[in-house]
Amino acid sequence: MAIQLKKAGIDDFVILEAAPAVGGVWRDNTYPGCACDVPSHLYSFSFERNPDWSRKYSPQPEILEYIQHCTDTYGLGPYLRFGVEITEAIYDETNARWQLLATDGRRFRCRFLVAGVGALRVPAIPAIKGASNFTGAAFHSAKWDPNFDLRGKRVAIIGTGASSIQLVPEIADKVAKLYLFQRTPPWILPRPDRPFRAAERSIFRQVPGADWLYRKLVYWQKESAAIAFIRFPKLLRLAALLARKHIQQSIADPELRRKVTPTYALGCKRILISNNYYPALARDNVEVITQGLAEFRSTSVITDDGRKIEVDAVIYGTGFALRNPLAPMTVIGRDGRDLSKLWRSTPKAYLGVTVPEFPNFFMLTGPNTGLGHSSMIFMIECHVHYVIRCLRHLLKHDLKTIEVRPEAMRRFNKRLEHKFGRTVWSTGCKSWYLNDEGHNFTLWPSYTWSFWLHTRRLRRRDYSLR
Ligand SMILES: Cc1cc2nc3c(=O)[nH]c(=O)nc-3n(C[C@H](O)[C@H](O)[C@H](O)COP(=O)(O)OP(=O)(O)OC[C@H]3O[C@@H](n4cnc5c(N)ncnc54)[C@H](O)[C@@H]3O)c2cc1C
Repeated sequence: MAIQLKKAGIDDFVILEAAPAVGGVWRDNTYPGCACDVPSHLYSFSFERNPDWSRKYSPQPEILEYIQHCTDTYGLGPYLRFGVEITEAIYDETNARWQLLATDGRRFRCRFLVAGVGALRVPAIPAIKGASNFTGAAFHSAKWDPNFDLRGKRVAIIGTGASSIQLVPEIADKVAKLYLFQRTPPWILPRPDRPFRAAERSIFRQVPGADWLYRKLVYWQKESAAIAFIRFPKLLRLAALLARKHIQQSIADPELRRKVTPTYALGCKRILISNNYYPALARDNVEVITQGLAEFRSTSVITDDGRKIEVDAVIYGTGFALRNPLAPMTVIGRDGRDLSKLWRSTPKAYLGVTVPEFPNFFMLTGPNTGLGHSSMIFMIECHVHYVIRCLRHLLKHDLKTIEVRPEAMRRFNKRLEHKFGRTVWSTGCKSWYLNDEGHNFTLWPSYTWSFWLHTRRLRRRDYSLR
């Protein structure tokens, strides 16, 4: 957003960042094995391609380095204010200004507010009886403790989502015993990862357009897979065959195979990719536990069926709280409207970017803009260009405020609902894509090029401009 504002000639802005450094999720998630699930040539900005990615799927340190590189290359230092966590954003209608309050009491006023707070930020920690009695180490994968030495320890990992399946193979051979608590097994496909050869990197660097072409190939490969998620979920049965074969090739024990084989449609929950997760589960010192975790005691955990397991550490691989994409920040719009209250049942927005009664307020990747099949950077870039378009329009016509019309948002959300009906995400499984009422408020139910089409121009009639 900052880079494109500068490119658009708008430099009267600040970036308020709670942490002491840039990097977002790639700064916060430092657990062993943390890496991207989208090929790096696509998981990077279209305007700042990197011919030197070391491998197809980059590890976390390399992505963090790339973000730092972008910050320096585009001279964002002077715009950054670190250690400023905004708790409250209140719209002052009289002056058409947003007033922001930070945790340390500092206040800011601005005409336009762009929330780029990310969706996967607040760790979700399940409420388990007796958790405070546990005397061993206990932390979430997103709060990795680099000083905690796992070697020779008995460790429980709760959850088998995207972070866990990256973490388990990295620590399985270091710990004395690993107990993996699995609620529902994920579908896992092989990860087509490998280092780039020196010759490939040299082609990306030296042949004009080579890395651009490669990026396009990856993009269209991902988009062609989307047809199965969005339109013809039955096609995903072919991928399920591949996933089953992957289990058979990696695990010999029929009981373990049974435990890790999902019973719901592939794609309904997030599909994960890994080559070393199943082999790690097959190790003698690893046990997959399908009973729930009922209670913590001072040095042990107790399963639903009463089994007591002595452990030295518990790692929560339980993902992130998603119910309100802006929480814990409170956003108050016109007439004291509180966005968290409006979103109590289901977070909704227009194109995931604007909400009625919240003038001059934009979200990057708000409700219904998440993806199950491609790069979030693509969606972020679409939103950024859309916000720039809105700002340019206001500045050009000397307008004070922009606010999406309620009927435009209703229409948009009705169309989304209709689209969901045909997707794999509506085939009946319970997933973190859905809220308790079964509404999918997280995903974009179509192709990413269709999102690009939706956001490539400002439909003035959908907005009230004052
Ligand atoms: C472990 C992990 C792996 C992922 N892998 C992939 C992947 O393979 N492919 C993919 O497409 N996506 C992936 N994602 C999703 C990822 O969230 C997005 O791709 C992308 O990083 C979002 O960028 P962002 O800048 O919008 O948000 P973030 O990276 O979350 O950054 C938001 C920033 O806002 C700051 N902030 C938040 N609230 C406040 C506040 N109130 N005041 C001040 N500052 C605030 C945060 O400190 C943070 O620095 C992954 C996420 C995680 C956690």
